Amino acid sequence: MKPHLLAGAVVLAIGIVAAAPLSVAEGLPDLGEAAQAEFSPAMERRIGESIMQDIRRDPAWLDDPEVNAYLNRIGNRLAAQSPESRQEFEFFSLRDPTLNAFAMPGGYIGVHTGLILAANSESELASVLAHEISHVTQRHLARLVNKAGQGQISSLLALAVAILAARSSPDLAVGAAMAGQGAAIQNQLNYSRDFEREADRLGLVLLERSGFDIRGMGGFFERLQKFGRIYENNAPGYLRTHPLTTERLADLGNRIQSRPYRQVADSMEFQLVRAKLRAQEGTSRDAVTEFEARLRDRSFAGAEAAVRYGLAQALLRDGKLAAAEREVGELRRLKAQSPMIETLAAQLRQKQGDPAGAVKILREAQPRYPQERAIVYGLLETLLEAGLIQDALKLSEDDLLSYPSDARAHALQSRTYARLGKRLQQHRAQAEAYALLGQLALAVEQMELAQKSGDGNFYEQSRVDARLREMKQRLAEEAKQAKPK
Ligand SMILES: [Zn+2]
Repeated sequence: MKPHLLAGAVVLAIGIVAAAPLSVAEGLPDLGEAAQAEFSPAMERRIGESIMQDIRRDPAWLDDPEVNAYLNRIGNRLAAQSPESRQEFEFFSLRDPTLNAFAMPGGYIGVHTGLILAANSESELASVLAHEISHVTQRHLARLVNKAGQGQISSLLALAVAILAARSSPDLAVGAAMAGQGAAIQNQLNYSRDFEREADRLGLVLLERSGFDIRGMGGFFERLQKFGRIYENNAPGYLRTHPLTTERLADLGNRIQSRPYRQVADSMEFQLVRAKLRAQEGTSRDAVTEFEARLRDRSFAGAEAAVRYGLAQALLRDGKLAAAEREVGELRRLKAQSPMIETLAAQLRQKQGDPAGAVKILREAQPRYPQERAIVYGLLETLLEAGLIQDALKLSEDDLLSYPSDARAHALQSRTYARLGKRLQQHRAQAEAYALLGQLALAVEQMELAQKSGDGNFYEQSRVDARLREMKQRLAEEAKQAKPK
């Protein structure tokens, strides 16, 4: 079992990381005496952000703008129904076959790919997100921290280190030992029955108001419990941190039965996201074989497009580009519509040495899906590959006016400037990308390179000077806060 990040987050909140021996604990904010007085929402956000910096560098981090955009769309649709809708959320995924999902301080909610694949319907996936969102809006984390008390601090510290280390530790034995130690301590920090009941009840309200089938929650939790019996002492991580009692299932059942039945179809996006994740599991050959078998048996219950899309993704991964192209042709014949199909089609053209063809697909798709970030990222990359650097720059400049906080867009602009040989702008854009990811030291380093580049005009140079001063000031403030007392 992978240890649960949630409990680690709780520990860090107590602000006693000074003696932590591992590098992972460095750079985490020491919250000093204030943390013991009160665990404020601003403090929660800061801790969450700090843990996210480690998570984004973890090999398990799923850096897929399509999967993440999907999770954020469905998560924010649920969160918008919450009475405490001022809370900001960020949903993300970790490549991990175990069934788990967790909420961290500050509204960061992670879902393992294993859980997304185990969900039988979109409502089931939504029910897990709704439950996690409710833990956040009800501030269960803060309440757990306040309850944990001083006596447990030393063992909690061990857990914080174990949790952050186990996932990326190259030494599996050490990782496993730490994980075991972590699991033992973690049991003290599981959500209480009261918190679970509250998260279930509020979660059901969010599900219903967002138009999902509330039966998804009962169905999924019951299936998780069955998994638990199969694994015996190695129950899904989710059940360890969200204890599922008979009483809890009965309470859920009663509430669900009292509501009118509502059939909700899965969205195309849900089916495509699952197919994409499945295509990346195991060996590429196995993935191809599985999708081919599903097509042969016609066991796709009306979702032929998703199976063909999954097969095309698996074939692409397996290097069978012509066969993948044929499946995209089938998707066109089925008149399947999704931005995910366009990015796949473009990727295939690109892999076959036709960047101009890829550009054409994405240019046509962009006005049809103006909100889709993956289309813009793909278009910027293919324009660069096709040598259309000025077009890339124009697109990038326009795009950043609408999405100034998009780190990936700044990084792509940096690559564009690099191709144009504009060093000041290249390093400035990269500095903005790092700053948005919370990596201020790297941002300052890049901004200093921009300052020294000597190839900017007066206006550009002054802008760099001003941003560098701001960044250095922020870095100094952070260093002051992190200094051990
Ligand atoms: Zn829970």
